[in-house]
Amino acid sequence: MDCGSCAAKIEHVVSALDDVETVRVDLALARMKVELRDDGDATRLAGAVRALGFTVAELGEGATRHAPAPQKPIWQDPRLAAVGIGVVAMVLGAITQSVPLYVVAIALGGFYVFRNALSSARHLHLDINVLMTIAVLGAMVIGEWFEAATVVVLFAFAEWLEGASMTRARRAIRDLMELAPPMARVLRGGAEVELGADDVVIDDVVVVRPGERVPLDGLVRAGESDVDQSPLTGESVPVHKAVGDEVFAGTVNTVGTLEVRVTKPASDSTIAHVLRAIEQAQENRSESERFIERFARWYTPAVVAIAVGIAVLPPLLGGGDWHEWFYRALVMLVIACPCALVIATPITTVSALAGAARDGLLIKGGRYLEELGAIRALVFDKTGTLTEGLLSVHEVVGSAAWTADDVLEVAAFAEQQSEHYIARAIVRETVHREISPPAHRMRRVEAHPGAGVEAHIDLCVKAPMIAGIGRIKIAHQHDHNCDHDHDLDEHASHAHEEARILVGTRTLLERFQIDFTGLDDEWHRLESHGSTVVGVTRDDELIGIIECRDTVRATARDTLEALRSMGIAEIHLCTGDNAIAAASLADSVGLDPNHVHAGLFPEDKVAILETLRAKFGHVAMVGDGINDAPALAAASVGIAMGAAGTDVALETAHVALMEDRLERVPSAIRLGRSTVRIIRQNVILALGIKAVVFGLATAGVATLWMAIAADMGTSLLVIANGLRSGRRA
Ligand code: ADP
Ligand code: MG
Repeated sequence: MDCGSCAAKIEHVVSALDDVETVRVDLALARMKVELRDDGDATRLAGAVRALGFTVAELGEGATRHAPAPQKPIWQDPRLAAVGIGVVAMVLGAITQSVPLYVVAIALGGFYVFRNALSSARHLHLDINVLMTIAVLGAMVIGEWFEAATVVVLFAFAEWLEGASMTRARRAIRDLMELAPPMARVLRGGAEVELGADDVVIDDVVVVRPGERVPLDGLVRAGESDVDQSPLTGESVPVHKAVGDEVFAGTVNTVGTLEVRVTKPASDSTIAHVLRAIEQAQENRSESERFIERFARWYTPAVVAIAVGIAVLPPLLGGGDWHEWFYRALVMLVIACPCALVIATPITTVSALAGAARDGLLIKGGRYLEELGAIRALVFDKTGTLTEGLLSVHEVVGSAAWTADDVLEVAAFAEQQSEHYIARAIVRETVHREISPPAHRMRRVEAHPGAGVEAHIDLCVKAPMIAGIGRIKIAHQHDHNCDHDHDLDEHASHAHEEARILVGTRTLLERFQIDFTGLDDEWHRLESHGSTVVGVTRDDELIGIIECRDTVRATARDTLEALRSMGIAEIHLCTGDNAIAAASLADSVGLDPNHVHAGLFPEDKVAILETLRAKFGHVAMVGDGINDAPALAAASVGIAMGAAGTDVALETAHVALMEDRLERVPSAIRLGRSTVRIIRQNVILALGIKAVVFGLATAGVATLWMAIAADMGTSLLVIANGLRSGRRA
């Protein structure tokens, strides 16, 4: 599928079939997505598309892993051969002034054009091929053989060129689709078996030898190696992976053999998410793309109407020369071809999106590319975005009878399922201090996004009486294994009690009306370090506080500086963390203290974005997807960092930086700006040249060959210009 007109034609024909409920043809991926009626027949559908001269391969339902059938290299395209011979015949014809040679040129060069025109005409679809055919027939009728041959040959060449450049722009996307290997070597019952990646289940262990691609997302269980993640994230240097590290489907294992415990089914791997996002990108067309589509819809019929008018009216009214005006009308038909105009935006967008994807920058559609180019204000999340997100516990203070270790143990128990950086820091610290986990049972945990966690646990009252304290603590009891689910007698023989544990910000604890008296001074002391401080409560009693420290990203200051120098008007910081931590970070990265907002819940971040959008129109939010997904969605464009690790970020963000690098934010904006600029140049170029030729044609100066040469020249320029946007950002 080469051009906008092919896509339109397929859509026109397929949507008219009885079998079809809905159809969407995707030019960029050369795919169509069809919803069949209940009694719909896919074979009949494929037949209808084949009858139009296309090849069809069925990919099945929701197929993301299958690449479209690989295309032959463009040099082997029979159309190129036809056009090539056509050009030679035309040139020889021009030299010898021989009509038979012109006929050969027209027949060969025009073969595919005429064939397309015929099938379009049969379906009453007035497209470019039909117009060109009429122009060529008309030129032959009035004996303008040279002109007829030029029109046909140049038009066919322009079409081929469009197809070839579309293929080129698609290649990056196709490469992505072929990233994840279809087969995996799985350890089952001690032996290695080859399985289709779709048949591998969670907790299977796959073996990846050096030089092989990782087939599924998982955690390294044994072995050590360097993994080249560049196909997915754009990182140029291979990343060292050892036991416990995460590896992604589609990345390349370089030196050692790895055993990987699969954590996600193939359909849920990071690369599958990326592919789905790319597929959906077509639905998020940019404003300019939609404008051109609307424009092209009336442009062609309008110019055709003018052509008819020119052919008929002047001779009838003013007694003009029939031959003369008929010729001018033919020129109009050529001008009616919106080729360069129609391809100007998609070729630019597709090549920008594909180039960006190759670079680990996933942009979900031209719309967001255009938004990136228009951004006037930015909002940054703090933890995990401007900071590394590698928190570590710095100090723990217990109240009264609670030791630091007790506090950590209680907190870790509540946090064990949380993905938050603080949770990981706390759990890591207990491992470090060799505090073993208690044998209690979790009843339910509730996350309070941007604030903390609330855990309800079952306490076994039989054993854990700790001497001296005189109350039940959560402590591990190695001798007491209470299996609450199965051992019902045991269960009944001793008392159970529910306890509620909170770990979180001061705001969260205040909501639960916790009394801070005993630890208030300590809390302020820890907070004054500019750290993140969380309180731990048990049954509404504050039992201790934990201070966590994070490191500012080394690149944060320079990145913000770069953004300011690009003319971004305001940069804000939004965080759920406390005001002192926020202010101290703002100070170290050089942010205006008036643009710092602390103590926010996720919905407060959304409110701030809305205010900024009202003021600036185009506002980006940069976050990591943890507690800021609503804000990412509420921004004109939500940019998620380190998306290779977090599915939420990948799903909700409009732009995902696969690699966890802040410096990519300015380059994404630069890419947006340059793409918008190129699209604008292309549209002006295409429209401008059309207008000039239109003027010349009405004045009777332009000839057929000028019109088609101008069109082809414009297509060439626009394509070359558009492909520029795919260069490395
Ligand atoms: P930021 O807005 O800086 O990225 P978050 O919105 O993720 O931070 O979290 C805001 C604050 O909420 C954290 O600084 C922390 O105090 C608290 N918090 C969030 N989740 C948890 C959790 N699982 N455990 C403890 N505290 C948490
Ligand atoms: Mg965050």
